[in-house]
Formats: sequence, structure tokens, C-alpha cells
Amino acid sequence: MNNTRSHELFTRASELLPGGVNSPVRAFKSVGGEPFFAERAQGAYLYDVDGNRYIDYVGSWGPMIAGHAHPQVLAAVAETMRHGLSFGVPNALEVTMAEAITRIVPSCEMVRMVNSGTEATLSAIRVARGATGRSRIVKFEGCYHGHGDSFLVKAGSGALTLGLPNSPGVPSALADLTLTLPYNDFDAASALFDEVGDEIAGLIIEPIVGNANCILPRDGYLQHLRELCTKYGALLIFDEVMTGFRVALGGAQQRYGIVPDLSTFGKIIGGGMPVGAYGGRRDLMSQVAPSGPIYQAGTLSGNPVAMAAGLATLELIQAPGFHDALERSTHALCDGLESAARAAGIAFHTTRAPGMFGLYFREGPVESFADALGSDTQRFNRFFHGMLERGVYLAPSAFEAGFVSSAHGEAEIAETIEAARATFATL
Ligand SMILES: *Cc1c(COP(=O)(O)O)cnc(C)c1O
Repeated sequence: MNNTRSHELFTRASELLPGGVNSPVRAFKSVGGEPFFAERAQGAYLYDVDGNRYIDYVGSWGPMIAGHAHPQVLAAVAETMRHGLSFGVPNALEVTMAEAITRIVPSCEMVRMVNSGTEATLSAIRVARGATGRSRIVKFEGCYHGHGDSFLVKAGSGALTLGLPNSPGVPSALADLTLTLPYNDFDAASALFDEVGDEIAGLIIEPIVGNANCILPRDGYLQHLRELCTKYGALLIFDEVMTGFRVALGGAQQRYGIVPDLSTFGKIIGGGMPVGAYGGRRDLMSQVAPSGPIYQAGTLSGNPVAMAAGLATLELIQAPGFHDALERSTHALCDGLESAARAAGIAFHTTRAPGMFGLYFREGPVESFADALGSDTQRFNRFFHGMLERGVYLAPSAFEAGFVSSAHGEAEIAETIEAARATFATL
């Protein structure tokens, strides 16, 4: 596979950007080798600057649920940008977006648009702290909520991939306010709340963990957390930056029937543009400035072009049967990979939710962060490169979920399974 131009670009980039990239996990550090540079993308495919084509299961890390460069999204962006790129005064698309979110996600009675998932989660815990007058927050080992100071404690995603779950630069005075729990452990959560429950401002969780590979909640687990938060007056915050609009139209909270107090969004809601949002109960959100004293602001928040891309994407995913089809594709892919691994005698397990999946080089089940860490990452790395050589791009980390879009049809999935069959035979 020719990579001359990517190599040349990465050499230049490495002089000027830390690690040659603008976000760590892009750098291929844990899988080895060098990243390829994208030239363009279309549907389920990414094309690099050397003319190679890949079936893409990263989807820009989540936003491209309707496939890359969807004509309706591009048309909405093109039409909107003709009127100007940013106004600094309110625009109608912000209202349409707020109406769409509050209708699709009923627990969000009010929302605030921001520019990334990181901003959304930072703001949500500020609201939790401001509204409760408490300082401590609870998160889960291996969950990633963006790169805010309070969250880089036993964090997932790139922090986990690179072995840096506790970042230098986060003052211990702040990190000490973040308590961590093992995901899916009922008793640990009960014990922590029984001990310090009345000091906890909020508990933030990825309802399906997608930043430590992909781990689904045990039956009743999210409900258990809901009850603990209610009992102790702590706010339940669902970080649905990844799962929102994906695992069901209304996100994980719809899929599992849980009503969080606050929710955070990103990725899909921007349709590929830099967007995040947080929202929740009216009595909480109305404490945000300027209607209340909890300060949060953004020069480009609610940007019209970004709103247009997000709204066009939300429209596409509201087509009847969209998420059912996504779920069928995800199952077809995962079932095919599992049977190819079985045929090759390789210990392998998948986890799945509509439009997202986890790959593990170990036997199942995988229900905890410790289980996820038990995957053979060396074997994953060889699998990753074997797939890449065969034109399939998986997340370059054993600890990231994969994503299926509506543009992944039977042909792409069959080709992926064939590539896996050939790759498993070499492991
Ligand atoms: C991606 C992600 C974030 C951070 O979003 P950015 O837009 O990268 O800042 C936060 N939470 C979860 C669950 C995510 O998957």
C-alpha cells in the first residue's frame, strides 16, 4: 500500500504539532506505524492522499452516522453559509436546533449549544456544582468525558490508549474532588453514596461506555444509579456525546428508559462540524447565565453553519426505521467477525449497540473495565494493521468503540468480513 504522501505530511506535521496531530488517538501510537492523511470521504469510505480507499468504521469518531459527505448535509451547509459564517447575534437555526433536541430527548427541557463535547461536560458539572452547592463529582474508570481537568482521572479514550489516565497539569486539589467507581458494580456505587452521598454534586457516566472499547450496562445498573442520585440529592448526568442520537433516536436514555437530570451531546449533533450541547431539567438549566448566575458562554456557540449541518443530520436519522437498520448492520458485522474468528480458532468477542461495537481479543463476556483490559492488545494491533492493508479502517486503538453508519451496506460489511477472515488467518 503506497503511503508516500502521507509519510511526507506526517514528517512535516511532527515538527510542528505535538505528535504530529491535533488529537492524540489519531497518531497510531498504540497500534504502531503512522497515520494516513485524508483527502476526501464519501459514504462509508475514506480516501487518503495516496489514493488508497478504506471502509471507515471510525466515522470521524462518531458524527458521520449518515455516512460521509451526505448530499443533504452538504446542501444545508452550502445554502446556510451563503448568508454569512457567524453573526454574534441569535439566529433562527439555534431555535430550530433547541426545538429538535428537546423534542427528541424529553429529559432536556432546555439546552445550551457549545462547540465540543468537552465544553458540554465541563459546563454540565459546573451546573451540577452550582445548583447543588456541592463540590464532589463521581465518574467511572475508563469513561472519557473530554479533556476537562475534573475528568482526566482514570480516563478512557486516548488517555487510556496512551497509558495516561491521570494527566499532569491537573491540580490535585481539583482531581481530589473527582471520585471514581468501577462501571457495572452495583455494590461499589451503593457503598460510595452511603459514605459521601450528600457531598456529591453529580454523577457523570457514559451510559454505554464507548471510550474503553464498548461496554454495555448490566440490567438495572443505570436505574440503580438513578435511584442513588435521587436518594442523595446528586444530579445524574448522562454523557451522551457518543451514544446520543445513535443507540436510539433519543439516545441511551431512551433505549434504557432512564431520565437523567442533565445530558451532554456532541458528535452527531454537529453532523461533522464542531458542536456540543448540554441540557436537562428546566429548574437546573434556568440557573445558567444570563437567566441565572452559573456562567458559561461561547463566541461561536450556536454557529449557523454548524447548526445547519447538525439539523440536516438529525433529519436524516429521523427517517422511519433508521436505527433498526443501523442495528441490523451492526449485528451482521459483529456476527460475521465472530464466526470468522471462530473458524480461525481465535479467542474473540464483540459487544454491540445500534451503530456502535467493541472488538475484544479474548473470550466474552465483557462487562467491566477490568474485562476490557483483558483483551490481547498486541493481537488487536496486528489485526488493525492487517485490516488496514486490506482497506478497512478500524479505530487505531484497542480501547475505542467502532461505528457503523447508514452508508455501510451489505457489500461493505461482506467485504469487511472477508478482510477479517484473511487477517485472522495471519494472527
Ligand atoms: C468524544 C467524547 C467527548 C468529548 O467530545 P469532544 O468533542 O472531543 O470534546 C465527551 N464524552 C464522550 C462520551 C465522548 O465520546
